[in-house]
Amino acid sequence: MKTYYQLCVLIALTFRVHSGPILSSTGKDREELATNYLKRLSRMDEDNTPSSGPKVSKMQDFLKLNVTGTLDTETMEMMKKPRCGVPDVASYKDRVLNYKWSTKNLTYRIENYTPDMSVAEVDDSIERALQVWARVTPLKFTRIYSGIADIMISFTVGDHGDGSPFDGPNNLLAHAFGPADGLGGDTHFDDDETFTFKSPNGYNLFLVAAHEFGHALGLNHSSDPGALMNARYTYRDVDSFVLPRDDVRKIQALYGSNPDIPDKPEPIPPSTPNACDPSLVLDAVTTLRGETYFFKNKFFWRHHPQIPQNEQFLIKTFWPELPDDIDAAFEDPSADLVYIFKGQKVWALSGYDVVNRMNLSSFRLPAKVKKINAAVYDESTGKMLFFVGKSYYSYDTNKKKMDKGYPKLVEERFPGMTGKVTAAYQYSSFTYLFSGTSIFEFSETVLMRVLGNNYFLQC
Ligand SMILES: [Zn+2]
Ligand SMILES: [Zn+2]
Repeated sequence: MKTYYQLCVLIALTFRVHSGPILSSTGKDREELATNYLKRLSRMDEDNTPSSGPKVSKMQDFLKLNVTGTLDTETMEMMKKPRCGVPDVASYKDRVLNYKWSTKNLTYRIENYTPDMSVAEVDDSIERALQVWARVTPLKFTRIYSGIADIMISFTVGDHGDGSPFDGPNNLLAHAFGPADGLGGDTHFDDDETFTFKSPNGYNLFLVAAHEFGHALGLNHSSDPGALMNARYTYRDVDSFVLPRDDVRKIQALYGSNPDIPDKPEPIPPSTPNACDPSLVLDAVTTLRGETYFFKNKFFWRHHPQIPQNEQFLIKTFWPELPDDIDAAFEDPSADLVYIFKGQKVWALSGYDVVNRMNLSSFRLPAKVKKINAAVYDESTGKMLFFVGKSYYSYDTNKKKMDKGYPKLVEERFPGMTGKVTAAYQYSSFTYLFSGTSIFEFSETVLMRVLGNNYFLQC
């Protein structure tokens, strides 16, 4: 019998994430959190000090953080995010061994059920989670109702006899063993969690299961923020879920493609936007408490002025309620609010909380405006500027009404800006207007430079 199992533990830490100064915890708490986290993720020695050193550096490198080798605010913040706990930074020796099943016909058995959902809902979630992988590989999954299956699925609590006890609500959610005999392939769900069928509340069983089955088939975590196998748990729309390209590529490297499905399957697996793509057109840009957020499709890049490397996230990892493909965003620093626009809908964010749900009409925009293309808060005048095509409106935040004489042509205020404004933001007294793949930098009303679209994205 093989002695090595790849064990994945899906962890959702209960801390809320805040930008700005986040650490109210004492140094001791902080050290303890870090020790526990690193132990879980890197199987480090009990007596290893985790506050600095090469293991911290490795973890920062993997998480695409600024590699400082010490537990800075940024690293602490990442450690508090909901995520899966498969070792990320150690076990390189284990990683190079490509564990996979030697058969294409695998069996699974659902040993018991959670009371959170109906039997039919659990069956459906598990079946669909397996089909996520079957669709893009030659693998076939057959359900059995007695005896030992390759993938034994159970809901259990606390210490359940495999040396990896669960821990009550939150934190550890599930774990799965990589391909092997015995425990290999087995997938356990912590039944102290609340699992859900199609709701963004609680933990969505289909999404947790699909991630765990990736491990059960031999996949490790991915640093691609859009990948299902990314260590962070992110709610996604279950009905429209399509396995992302990164996961497809990796599972096909192990098992090959599905001979029954043409090479270019529909729907096309979604890929993560690349900062180096010269044809990239951003959806929206805004500041948020000193950082800058660049939105594209389901994703955003986050830029901190003191951190050389940007991070990329799914929007829903931070704000599960927000839509993808937003139209515009801006920050009103005086109110400490960020507004997100899509169609007629507007969301007001205070950090990582949605605090208000509004409508375009809240800003007194004329009814004929069905959507805006970009928005910015002009700090020098206290006006909110809303860009619609080649025109813009100006909203007076003090009088709470639209200024008279608008819309005006963007070019009147920003000479040289002749195209459509697709995104806009202000930073250190410059106004940046994005138009397609170019960025126009203005100081007051003077055009300073025209930059490439990924100037800020550190391609
Ligand atoms: Zn995992
Ligand atoms: Zn277990």
